[in-house]
Amino acid sequence: MGSAKTWDALLNPLRFAAKDDFRNLDRVKDLGKTLARAAKEIGLPAELVALAEGIDAVEREEKKRRVLALLERIAADASTPSPSPSPSPKTLPRLGELKGVGESTLAALAERGVRDVRDLLMFLPRRYEDRRLRTSCRDAPIGERVTVTAEIRVLGQVPLRGGRKLFEMAVSDGTGILRLKWFRFSAKHFQKTFQPGMQVAVSGMVEAYQGQKQMLHPDLTIVTDVEALGDLPPIIPHYLELTGVHPKRLRSIIAQALPYAGALPDVLPPRVFAGRALPSLREALQALHQPPEATALDVLASGRSAWHERLILEELLLLQLGLVRRRMQASFEPGITIAASAVPADLLPFALTHAQQRVAAEIMRDLASGKPMHRLVQGDVGSGKTAVAFLAIWHAVRAGHQAAMMAPTELLSEQHMKNALQVLHKQGVRVALLTSSVPAAEAKKTLAAVKAGAIDVLIGTHALIQDRVEFRSLALAIIDEQHRFGVAQRAKLRAKGPEQRAPHLLVMTATPIPRTLALTVYGDLDVSIIDELPPGRTPVKTELVRETKREQLHQKMQKQLEEGRQIYVVYPLVEESEKVDLKDATRMAEEIRAAFPSHVVDLLHGRMPSEEKERVMRRLAAGETHVLVATTVIEVGIDVPNASVMVIEHADRFGLSQLHQLRGRVGRGAHKSYCYLVAGYAGEEAYRRLRILCDTNDGFRIAEEDLEIRGPGDFIGTRQAGLPELGVANLARDQDLLNVAKVAAEALLAEDAELARHPLLAAAVREQFRKAEQLALAG
Ligand code: ADP
Ligand code: MG
Repeated sequence: MGSAKTWDALLNPLRFAAKDDFRNLDRVKDLGKTLARAAKEIGLPAELVALAEGIDAVEREEKKRRVLALLERIAADASTPSPSPSPSPKTLPRLGELKGVGESTLAALAERGVRDVRDLLMFLPRRYEDRRLRTSCRDAPIGERVTVTAEIRVLGQVPLRGGRKLFEMAVSDGTGILRLKWFRFSAKHFQKTFQPGMQVAVSGMVEAYQGQKQMLHPDLTIVTDVEALGDLPPIIPHYLELTGVHPKRLRSIIAQALPYAGALPDVLPPRVFAGRALPSLREALQALHQPPEATALDVLASGRSAWHERLILEELLLLQLGLVRRRMQASFEPGITIAASAVPADLLPFALTHAQQRVAAEIMRDLASGKPMHRLVQGDVGSGKTAVAFLAIWHAVRAGHQAAMMAPTELLSEQHMKNALQVLHKQGVRVALLTSSVPAAEAKKTLAAVKAGAIDVLIGTHALIQDRVEFRSLALAIIDEQHRFGVAQRAKLRAKGPEQRAPHLLVMTATPIPRTLALTVYGDLDVSIIDELPPGRTPVKTELVRETKREQLHQKMQKQLEEGRQIYVVYPLVEESEKVDLKDATRMAEEIRAAFPSHVVDLLHGRMPSEEKERVMRRLAAGETHVLVATTVIEVGIDVPNASVMVIEHADRFGLSQLHQLRGRVGRGAHKSYCYLVAGYAGEEAYRRLRILCDTNDGFRIAEEDLEIRGPGDFIGTRQAGLPELGVANLARDQDLLNVAKVAAEALLAEDAELARHPLLAAAVREQFRKAEQLALAG
């Protein structure tokens, strides 16, 4: 039996060639030679060696047949006797037992979620560096990353202007000289480690400087003898940086852990992804951490090599198994039947849009079904989700039950309360508000009334999920701006239903998520979309403003102020530097005060106590404030129809969806509204991104773009949703695999609902979701 390396040398090119219906077949060069060499080394039967040898010469179809035949035969051979080099160790060491892992390294690893050897092996490189390009000093091409072997001639510190120093070496291989420079260095370390006359392998980007070739901060390896050069890894993995752990040390720690990859439980049942030849977990990890020399780096960089796919599919299978199970459990719960009845004609002050009617009908069907509703309503800002929610509430109350509506901020709760008083109260529905600013005595009275059934609808903030809140008969729980809450909070509100009966759950969000994704991320929710705005809205006109055009911007703002409109100026919230932002925003508020001396300018920031924030927002809503400068994302869902201008500073620091949300704060009244995206020079790509907002007001299109650009993590918040965090998979990129995993999960569970035949897999699903739910509970 050959070593694992040889097996990989055989299997990897074959898998690569077979991947995606042989898409790469024509790109593999010298397949025959590589295969034949490996096949001989392993000692495969002569017929297989022959199959391999002639492969480059045959027709494409025959080539395909041979690749498949080889894969099949080899898979059968490789899986019986262990192909590992030495029998792979059975028990995993603790992280601390690996050489070079002390307290501080353990802490740095833990910071990245790495707590054991398995986590460490799953900590995959972010990118790879190609060290296969070996040249001489003379031939080293400028602008390329290369590796050169040369002798150190001189080394030492060189003073720079301003008292700083750099460390410099001159190395030569006889063909020319290369200067190596470090601006950050430990002189002691350098002096101790390197001496003139030493042979070193130098890797880095070749630059031209004053007519000479140089490398800044290159990587150095001492070459003790020429043989050792052969052992230099041809492809260097780069990982996310760990505080205080040098990349080289991290690589050495991972190299120590790699032999244990074979001891990790491989949870994928054989043939679960029918028709896909997947590498084993051990092979995948080995190749991703130490790619074989023949690897196509662009495939690795795409994150979708066959090795990646093995890990992605496992991750997505666990996700899908968990989701499908959640959904199955939910479908067993008995619900509260709420029949539809004729709605009073004067319930709402306007006619519903078609989209609102459709969504309302979907909700009514759920309410009447006898099963608890689990529905997500998505609708762009201003699409009128509240009206739909009120209709559902009205039906619940009419059927003799209670409803609860939870919103993330006090102001939004109050706004809902105000609307509820106008719409529901006049129909005889008894409404109450519960937030932390409601005086204790009043809150106590409210709580008693809710418990006794003397209040029909309770509106409020997180205060609603306190233990002391009890309902007589909660039949409908509504959560507004759901992305601001986690599953745990959702579950808590739902748990306030009557004994043995789950209330209907309606969650609403303005964060548009492409449908395929919503179905996964909210896999246990049905999705309704309000994709139409009420009539009479004029779309917000959006413009990109370069820093240099601030004068003109002020003129436009002045004009709106003179017309009696109000303005928001928003600063990005960069959590790590809240202090800096605050300073910026405070200065900005001063500047604006100076620029508009006859108008009232107010400031809102994240560090204000919440009562103060509320006061600021109230002054704005009352029209007393003309310009509001805010560091925080202005309260979600807030409605000030007279505000017609949204200025967003450092717009390039926001995600597109977030910008779109912010923009939704204006254009809520009859006035023509404007959104100005201010950006200093942030690169063409940033401008291109921002221009998408100027071109469209369609939240879904913007979300799709955002997804393309940033991946879904940012705005879906898998953590908030109580889903396992995805390490390898990317929901945007891997939608195809998501479906593959879904089909596989459904098939597995249909045959074996408890996964009794796959105990390892069942345990992995439980573990993933347990971790995720803990995180969600922690907020
Ligand atoms: P969102 O979906 O962002 O929560 P709201 O429910 O706050 O939107 O509605 C935004 C505004 O549109 C509110 O002032 C609301 O009264 C109004 N509105 C909602 N539906 C309609 C409609 N069908 N016709 C006219 N105005 C509507
Ligand atoms: Mg709303």
